[in-house]
Amino acid sequence: MVSRTAADVVAGARRAGDLAALDAAVADCFACPRLVEWREEVATTRRAAFRDQVYWGRPVPGFGAGDARIGILGLAPAAHGGNRTGRIFTGDRSGDVLFAALHRAGLANQPTSLARDDGLTVRGTRIFAAVRCAPPDNKPTPAERDTCAPWLHREIELIRSTLRVVVALGAFAWAAWWPAMTRVYGVRPPSPRPAFGHGAHWSPPAPVPHLLGCYHVSQQNTFTGRLTPAMLDEVFGRAKTLAGLD
Ligand code: SF4
Repeated sequence: MVSRTAADVVAGARRAGDLAALDAAVADCFACPRLVEWREEVATTRRAAFRDQVYWGRPVPGFGAGDARIGILGLAPAAHGGNRTGRIFTGDRSGDVLFAALHRAGLANQPTSLARDDGLTVRGTRIFAAVRCAPPDNKPTPAERDTCAPWLHREIELIRSTLRVVVALGAFAWAAWWPAMTRVYGVRPPSPRPAFGHGAHWSPPAPVPHLLGCYHVSQQNTFTGRLTPAMLDEVFGRAKTLAGLD
């Protein structure tokens, strides 16, 4: 069913009985007018290198295992990455860096993420974003973040029986975790909230998953050397240990 308002998102998320239903409902969401306009404009104008391709131009659902022990939480799809290919972290440099690291960690069957039919699978891991539509300048508004949150919260609910660790890619994802945790686990965040940083680790009492901070795999971080492959390997190694996936 198509979602056109924030109330529709709440109802649609509540109705989704499994990940397949949730993914389908997410892809049919039109609740944020500014983001709908942007995702469609990008899909129409396209980047020169992809001019012969049909862009997805819709919200991008989560990707990965239904029995995930590790959740990887990003900000939002990239305009010419997920918004083009229809799969999160797919078809852009950020995805190249992320999936190369997951492959080194034994969590992905291949080091590249090029298209929805490229054969990529992940082990014990689910990847999702706090906001499901590509935003202009990668900056969703607080209202858009809040409107989209029920999709994320429902996704976490659907994997909570196995989820042991959440890796937050960047400060936006780190901040998005706290309301998700309260909604899904009924646990309030500590005060003051633990600060985001690369390698930050918040270890709550079970069943709430561990929270690990990791700089976002954006080109801004990876091209400048702020985030290196070794730093990613360290975070995913720790996530695997905490999740019992060694
Ligand atoms: S950002 Fe989320 S709530 Fe807004 S239109 Fe996209 S999927 Fe729907």
